Amino acid sequence: MTILITGGAGYIGSHMVLDLLATNEKIVVLDDLSTGFTGLVPAIVPLVKGDIGDKPLVKSVIENYGVNAIMHFAAKIVVPDSMTDPLGYYLNNTAKARTLIEAAVESGIKNFIFSSTAAVYGEAGEMPVTENTPPAPVSPYGRSKLMVEWMLEDAARAYGLNAMVLRYFNVAGADHAGRSGQSTPRATHLIKTACEAATGKRNGMSVFGTDYDTPDGTCIRDYIHVSDLARAHRLSLDFMRAGGKGTVLNCAYGHGSSVMEVIKAVKQASGVDFPVSLTERRAGDPPEVVATGEKIRALLGWAPAFDDLGVIVADALAWEKQLATAALNRPV
Ligand code: UDP
Repeated sequence: MTILITGGAGYIGSHMVLDLLATNEKIVVLDDLSTGFTGLVPAIVPLVKGDIGDKPLVKSVIENYGVNAIMHFAAKIVVPDSMTDPLGYYLNNTAKARTLIEAAVESGIKNFIFSSTAAVYGEAGEMPVTENTPPAPVSPYGRSKLMVEWMLEDAARAYGLNAMVLRYFNVAGADHAGRSGQSTPRATHLIKTACEAATGKRNGMSVFGTDYDTPDGTCIRDYIHVSDLARAHRLSLDFMRAGGKGTVLNCAYGHGSSVMEVIKAVKQASGVDFPVSLTERRAGDPPEVVATGEKIRALLGWAPAFDDLGVIVADALAWEKQLATAALNRPV
């Protein structure tokens, strides 16, 4: 039976495709290509260009490809954009997800895995957060995702859809074999930005705030390698196929790195001492965001393969270097 991967031409979705191909799963990708790249999807994988909010299309893909599980990655993910265009985010991430879930229920899909986010916790006071930390999102992006979590919880109760909710912490790095990586322009994320500075794509970078109540004064995040994250999805599906009930899982290593530590690691990996300016805090940045990650290890037996900032950064850097020459688009 086939797994439908929405957003499979995007950053995390394309790593999911690679992971599932390696285990000989049958897959089909649905992507509107608004931010995805056809070249990130291996040519042997069927790629349907279309919208998750187009119910007849989704149902025909489910029927034509014999889909019995869905991994839903397609979404808008830029937090500041969600502040200026909340209704756009609620349309893309929430309303269209509702249509996708409805198509899944009407088509008798059993298992559904949803890309959620640490942003649902908002500025949670307690650190590290656990799955029991009450959600309190502060951005439309976080709210748009939390509402989908609620829909899935209710759909599970009402229709028996088995749903796993994976809350991602700071996803970074790239396929260790160099087949995919973060490719979207106008990067804002720390590791991608530092790699752009190291490869001369920008003149330097800024550290947003050095006066936080942390050991070196800069913010701490729990960076997780994108391929470890993809594996967490595969293990979730194996678990549900074996009769396990979906739940909420934090995807994190359980320890963090500061902005300064990340920049040092990128300088070390690249051998380039790019300029770094120390600037004001960025609005809305909590000092520390780290999760325990214990539940996912215990429930799924998830054992990260790349829990090492040096490896995450080296993989991200290798992708950044080849990005100039990578063929990101192919005819669909
Ligand atoms: N950051 C920074 N300079 C940059 C980009 C990010 O100092 O050019 C900091 C940011 O303020 C935050 C941390 O790096 O403290 C992680 O930010 P990112 O945007 O990667 O992820 P977030 O945790 O905000 O989702």
